[in-house]
Amino acid sequence: MAITGGCLCKAVRWESSAPPIVTRVCWCRDCQYFGAGGATVNACFRTASFTVTGKTSDYSSLADSGNRMHRQFCPDCGTPLFSAAEVRPHLVFVRAGTFDDPNLADPAMTVWTSSAPRWACFDPDLPRVEKQAPPAA
Ligand SMILES: [Zn+2]
Ligand SMILES: [Zn+2]
Repeated sequence: MAITGGCLCKAVRWESSAPPIVTRVCWCRDCQYFGAGGATVNACFRTASFTVTGKTSDYSSLADSGNRMHRQFCPDCGTPLFSAAEVRPHLVFVRAGTFDDPNLADPAMTVWTSSAPRWACFDPDLPRVEKQAPPAA
């Protein structure tokens, strides 16, 4: 079963032939910028089973871990779509808001709770990690 999604204006579309490896809620400070104040929800897919159509813009930055990160956006509507670390080119993290069916992105964990503002709400049923999550695979 293919999982599909894309940006708000539909100029960028993506498809995965395999389900996500894991989905996490991330409260790192960077995600608060992309998430408009909240956390972001990110589903990790293998790049081998993942395809993108349409043009994205790329913002590259250094993470606290020292890893170079790339984040991709739709240049037209600005929707944050993907992030990836150069050290793990086999994995792509997809913003759950871009799923055609966001119900397919059930989070398994909340990470970077130590960076969350005091008004943040955490799902009590999910394990919490104060900082970086363990690698997905
Ligand atoms: Zn768009
Ligand atoms: Zn984050």
